[in-house]
Amino acid sequence: MKLIYLAGNWHSGSTLLDIYLGNGPDCFSMGELIQISRDGIEKEYCSCHEKIEDCEFWSDVFEEWNSQRSLEDSRFKVIHEKYKLSVRNNVWVIFYHLFPTSEVKTFWEDCQKLYQIIYIKSESEFLVESSKNPLRLMLLKRVFDNENLFVLYLKRNFVGVLESYRKKYEKDLSKGIEKDIQPKKVSKTAFKHLSISYMTYFLKCGLSMVRLRYEEFVGKRGDSEPLTELSEELDIELTSKEKLKPGHLLAGNRLRLKKELKIEKMRSKHSELGQAQISFAKLIEFFSV
Ligand SMILES: [Zn+2]
Repeated sequence: MKLIYLAGNWHSGSTLLDIYLGNGPDCFSMGELIQISRDGIEKEYCSCHEKIEDCEFWSDVFEEWNSQRSLEDSRFKVIHEKYKLSVRNNVWVIFYHLFPTSEVKTFWEDCQKLYQIIYIKSESEFLVESSKNPLRLMLLKRVFDNENLFVLYLKRNFVGVLESYRKKYEKDLSKGIEKDIQPKKVSKTAFKHLSISYMTYFLKCGLSMVRLRYEEFVGKRGDSEPLTELSEELDIELTSKEKLKPGHLLAGNRLRLKKELKIEKMRSKHSELGQAQISFAKLIEFFSV
């Protein structure tokens, strides 16, 4: 089983890239698998417009997985949530990997069973996951052999990322917004941007990685050099369709719920950044990798 993992900051276009790759004949888009331990995920919408619990793909996957996995669901969720990005979680995950208990090892085995079930059911050569968070690579290295795990680092200019983080959304499951989203503080967003950027480079050690700039991806409608490099290296065919159809993406940006979509730049509704914030964002971008 093989996986293309999309790493990068939030609001960088990873859902669109996931859908784009999944529209090719060799890849299956899974969306943000990292969210399977989120409370109430089964009531959220898959990109096929069914709730996860009713979706023909995911309901079969989870039924099969529940019959095979060993760890109790509540314990699985506790450990799985630790792989979400935060300073405290980083410490937990390092601890798990340095001194794995039998429970943690069972957790890794259960994760592997889940990916195997998805892989078989998808009937595709590659799975694509857009969980973004580089910390998850530590888990994935336990699940996949290094030669079968590929990192596609999607890097968006921090000015665009910051603008997107400043927007506000209200929870609406039917629109694919799973919680109220408040504008984030500039300093926190900058810290996150730099952390993700350096952690991706650090944690991809031992793996093959391609770096793709969001602006190039949308500007060239997918036909960009890093993606050509990826398709040649992995021997996968990229789609030439102009209208993309989301398949069964679990979680991710709300655009996964569109019936079909084109590759285009995310629109900024209200450009609220002041000159000082733009200058700060450019500085952060300069220091990111
Ligand atoms: Zn579905």
